This record gives sequence, structure tokens and C-alpha cells, in this order.
Amino acid sequence: MLPIQDLYPLLNTPRKVVITMHQKPDADAMGSALGLYHFLVQLGHHVTVVSPTNWAKWLNWMPGCNKVVDFELTRDKAEGILKEAEWIFCLDFNILLRTKNMAPIIKALNVTRILIDHHAQPDTPTFAYGISDTKKSSTSEMIYDFIVEAGYKHLVNKEVAQCLYAGVMTDTGSFRFPAASAAVHRMIADFKDQGLDHTKVHEHIYDNYLENRLRFIGHVLLHRMEVFYEYNTALISIPKKDLLRYEIKTGDTEGLVNYPLSIQGIRLAAIVIDRDEERKWSFRSKGDFDVNSFARKYFEGGGHFNAAGGRSSASLDETVEHFMQAIQENEAALQEERTSSNKK
Ligand code: 5GP
Ligand code: MN
Repeated sequence: MLPIQDLYPLLNTPRKVVITMHQKPDADAMGSALGLYHFLVQLGHHVTVVSPTNWAKWLNWMPGCNKVVDFELTRDKAEGILKEAEWIFCLDFNILLRTKNMAPIIKALNVTRILIDHHAQPDTPTFAYGISDTKKSSTSEMIYDFIVEAGYKHLVNKEVAQCLYAGVMTDTGSFRFPAASAAVHRMIADFKDQGLDHTKVHEHIYDNYLENRLRFIGHVLLHRMEVFYEYNTALISIPKKDLLRYEIKTGDTEGLVNYPLSIQGIRLAAIVIDRDEERKWSFRSKGDFDVNSFARKYFEGGGHFNAAGGRSSASLDETVEHFMQAIQENEAALQEERTSSNKK
């Protein structure tokens, strides 16, 4: 993988470009893709954003979202666009597998693959150019750096700013996590100068749910959460019947995993959701418990040090049992955390 800087001199020649991101794109995946889209079209490129799957409805306010092609929904159209592409930007994921059914197609194409991502352990041989930096708050911040470093800061307009802001805001827990650096805040100042209405973005994302989603959260916290103080761990496991009863859609469960972390002393929060195709895990930690390694080791997943995900094809009960064994195996690390956080 050549450094991303080698791509800068090539940017001013218009090309057919596809931008893609991980399946079930969140606000950083969609925001970074659309932020890059609004930049590249200004340089005359012919750009299409192709999402591997559908996405949460509450992302539809993003400028350009109505033009995003859903690979699963319109596969022939998406494949046609992919075959024409000269460049494919791969955003907010580290391995092609994260694009689900699109992965073998992207792999087989004779195309220039470009990676911009902040997840650990990227599969660099897959990409011709790229940058992977786990210290970055979000892929959206990396798109901003890409535009500025390439010498096009003047092309950061209101559309670019709105999309990228949404990604940085969500990936930093609204500027709360350590990755919300001085550089992030300087970038936001630049967005404000471009006319960004940040209050609107917060409302679009956090105040845009249906009543049933809030009642679902109440139900889940009351009935589906278990706290294991001996391991500084809390687990939420959601059976399929809850998803059906509350008509839970893509995106409605996002952020739920953070609730248990608000309990005093809890250092590891986990949620497992009984989806049709698999049992989907999310992990969050505080301090030095590495959920990226934990998800890789036990649940075919990965992500970041303090936020990761994974999956299991076992039943809900079996995968929960597996989780209990895993935290027992990690008892020392989880308790060490309690001792060291007490010392702080
Ligand atoms: P979330 O729990 O919000 O779905 O994901 C947390 C982080 O872990 C995100 O950065 C996401 O990209 C990553 N992640 C989630 N699920 C998986 C997975 O199954 N495999 C890998 N490698 N990363 C994941
Ligand atoms: Mn991200």
C-alpha cells in the first residue's frame, strides 16, 4: 500500500470513482463517504457512493444520501457501477470482509483500491494507496485531513462540513472520548466558518427516533441487562421477540451498548442481538481493557481498543454462555482494571 500522499497529484484528473464503506453504515461511514463525495465532485470526478447494505433512516438527512446506491437492494445497478470504476475508496473499515457480499466483487475488480480508515490491523496488501491511523477520532476527520493536505481546504463547503461533522460527533461520543483532540476542535471551528449548523446535526441524529425505540430501551434496561460486578462487566442480550415486539429497525440499537458503562465501576459493556442471520455483538470498554483483541479472540470480530464488534452463528443462549466463559478467562485483566482505576 503506497502512502495516501502519492494520490494527491492524481486528484486533479477526473475519473470514475466509487466510494464504499462497511456494511450497515453508521454516521462515520456514511458521513465520511458523503463528505468525500461532495469534495471529489467539485474536482470534476464522476462519483457514486455504493453502500454494501441498507442504513438507518436517520442518516437520510445527509446531503447526497438520496443518491447512495444500496448494493443489496439494487445489486445489478451497483455491480454495473463497480465494474466501470477506476478508483474505489474504501472508508471506515480495515478488511474487505466488512463489505459483506460486495467483498469478492471488490477483490476481483481490476481497479485502484484506496483505503482511508482508523481501525486496527488493516489488510494493507489489498490496497494500492491508503492511510490507516488508529489515533484518529474518525474516518471523517481523516477525510478532512486528506482534503486539507492535498491542498484543497477551500473546497470544504457546507455540505462537506455537515457530513463530516456527523461522523466525528458520533465516533467521539459527542466530543467526549480521548480521540477528540485539539485538531478535531480546530476542524470543527473551520466547519463553523463554512456555515455548519451543529445543533441541527445533533437533532437529526439524536432526536429523530420513534416512540417505540425509547420504550424498547426502557424494556431492555429493565429486563435484559445483567451486571457482573465481580468482573466489572455488564451484558445486555436481546432476543428476537423484543426486536419484533418493538418493530426495531437498522440503527435503532446503536448506542445501547453505552448505557451500562454509565454504571459506577463498569469497565466492560457488551450487547448481543439475536438477528436473523447471526448473533451480533458490540463491546465497549473504559481504560486499558482491549475489546479489539477480545472481539477478535472470541467473536470473529475486531474494531478499536475501546469499541469493537463481533458475531456468532451459535444460538443466543450459547453465545452468551461463550461470553461468560470469556470474561472468566479474562478475570484478571478485568479486575486489574478495577484496582488500577481505584488507584487513579
Ligand atoms: P459497533 O459496536 O458500533 O457496531 O462497532 C464498534 C466498532 O467495531 C466499529 O468501529 C466497527 O467498525 C467495529 N466492528 C463492529 N463489528 C465488527 C466485526 O464484526 N468485525 C470487525 N472487524 N469490526 C467490527
Ligand atoms: Mn469510524
